[in-house]
Amino acid sequence: MTVLLIGGMDSSGGAGLLRDGATLGAMGVPYRVAVTAVTAQSDIRVSAVQPVQPEVVAAQIAAAEDVAAVKIGMLGTAAIAGAVADALPAAPLVLDPVLVSSSGYRLLDAVGQAILIARLLPRAALVTPNLPELQALGRALGQPAGRAVPEIARALLAHGCGAVLVKGGHAEDGEVCEDLLFRDAGAPVAYRAPRLPGSLRGTGCQLASAIAGGLSRGRPLEAAVADARAQVLARLGGRERQLANLVTND
Ligand code: PLP
Repeated sequence: MTVLLIGGMDSSGGAGLLRDGATLGAMGVPYRVAVTAVTAQSDIRVSAVQPVQPEVVAAQIAAAEDVAAVKIGMLGTAAIAGAVADALPAAPLVLDPVLVSSSGYRLLDAVGQAILIARLLPRAALVTPNLPELQALGRALGQPAGRAVPEIARALLAHGCGAVLVKGGHAEDGEVCEDLLFRDAGAPVAYRAPRLPGSLRGTGCQLASAIAGGLSRGRPLEAAVADARAQVLARLGGRERQLANLVTND
């Protein structure tokens, strides 16, 4: 049983399919990939993007065997988003709504975003927006600007996705970083961790692909999210230790 990873190649290796593959490799979960775009980027800049022909994306998806879970990241264009929706296998889908890179480059055009909402969101077992992505999805669903997180999350649930994990990493304040899992009208499940200084690329890719890895093994959603968060925190903690060493070695 494998996880099908649909997304972009980030030449820096920080995010995208290389990060997804490294995550599943560390879990011992086999995977297939469908490359949607080749990007040239560093941590601070996207310098080139070449989308893959939609038929080639669809052919990669069709070639994937034994798919037990799917993770979607960068789609790039409306035509690719449509081809992915047409070709998607019937397995639990984790949809990471990648709209803009941390460096500010738009990774899905406006029409593509509309297709993501109309055709992929209703098929997702879980969608994993960060706070800016949640606001963008809310606006596209006709929610007024500045709506509270729970209201937008419930609008996404009403649109047909199974669950919404709102990642709190972009929140401006607080010593605690809180992710909220909304599954129904009830109170969300809150996952909390101390907020670490600085930022690291590819944490969203890592979290979503680790959740898909858990689901492919039959883990219940809440447990798959908890495991995946622990994996991301271990990477952030490792980075923290490296930084501390750099300082003490100076
Ligand atoms: N590039 C690719 C190919 C991605 O898939 C993603 C995220 O999924 C990004 C860039 C953005 O990552 P970050 O927000 O860490 O810059």
